[in-house]
Amino acid sequence: MTQEQHSSTAQLDSTDRPAFEAAYQAAQKSLAGGGIPIGAALARNGEVAASGHNERVQNADPIAHGEMSALRAAGRQKTYRNTTLYTTLAPCAMCAGTIIQFKIPRVVVGEARTFDGELELLRSRGVEVVVLDDQRCVDMMRTFQADHPELWAEDIAE
Ligand SMILES: [Zn+2]
Repeated sequence: MTQEQHSSTAQLDSTDRPAFEAAYQAAQKSLAGGGIPIGAALARNGEVAASGHNERVQNADPIAHGEMSALRAAGRQKTYRNTTLYTTLAPCAMCAGTIIQFKIPRVVVGEARTFDGELELLRSRGVEVVVLDDQRCVDMMRTFQADHPELWAEDIAE
């Protein structure tokens, strides 16, 4: 483990770890099912409310990004105050828009190296963004992007 990874992982407090792990495990589940390995989880006050993963391939659903699937799984919420959304990869414009729409105050991102997403948009709207630069997430996406360039290009509309 490099020093950089060590210090970034240290940004996770004890209440963050189970939810981030739920997001990572959801991504692994998607990969095992032939899908895109991006997972997410919604937690309130450290309690995991729901997790989900990208279901573009599994459900032929272009909108089912990991974050959208986790929010759908969590169902209706009176408020997103006190919630954190955990995701293995930087949110795209669609997911960032949803985060802003629901006023989710905090987002923990596994990595933003393989896709830099819309972190500045989130920050500009007052969302606290924590980027972990988690090596497991980087490796997971690099392997997937190399093995399935066409699926990856489709997911980010390129
Ligand atoms: Zn997205």
